[in-house]
Amino acid sequence: MEDCIFCKIVRGEIPSTRVAESQWAIAFEDIAPKAPVHTLVIPKEHIAALHEATDADREMLADCLLLCNEVARIKGVDESGYRVVTSDGPDGGQEVAHLHFHVLGGRKLQFGV
Ligand code: 5GP
Ligand code: ZN
Repeated sequence: MEDCIFCKIVRGEIPSTRVAESQWAIAFEDIAPKAPVHTLVIPKEHIAALHEATDADREMLADCLLLCNEVARIKGVDESGYRVVTSDGPDGGQEVAHLHFHVLGGRKLQFGV
């Protein structure tokens, strides 16, 4: 997608602090962290949100969650605990229309974040 900011991050056209990469996904630091650990995991291929995923996306979705798992290990919160969140659509509070998983941790999280 030409104008999608997360596609631009995948292509390296917008700089980001890369944390990890897998076959289907990349992980990079959120620009406005809401917790001591706040990393985003996004698929390399554009998909707007979780509700657009189909059977054909099983491998990509599993890969994204396993990359969240790896991010938690890299950031040292795999033992203390963390939260994986995806926002979908207006009521879900989604601001960037490219599927992404927030990996949040490093403090006791409240409901929401
Ligand atoms: P959403 O509200 O859509 O679930 O989350 C979008 C997230 O993307 C927000 O936490 C926001 O801080 C982050 N974000 C927006 N633009 C950029 C950017 O250009 N670079 C990075 N690294 N994060 C961004
Ligand atoms: Zn995109």
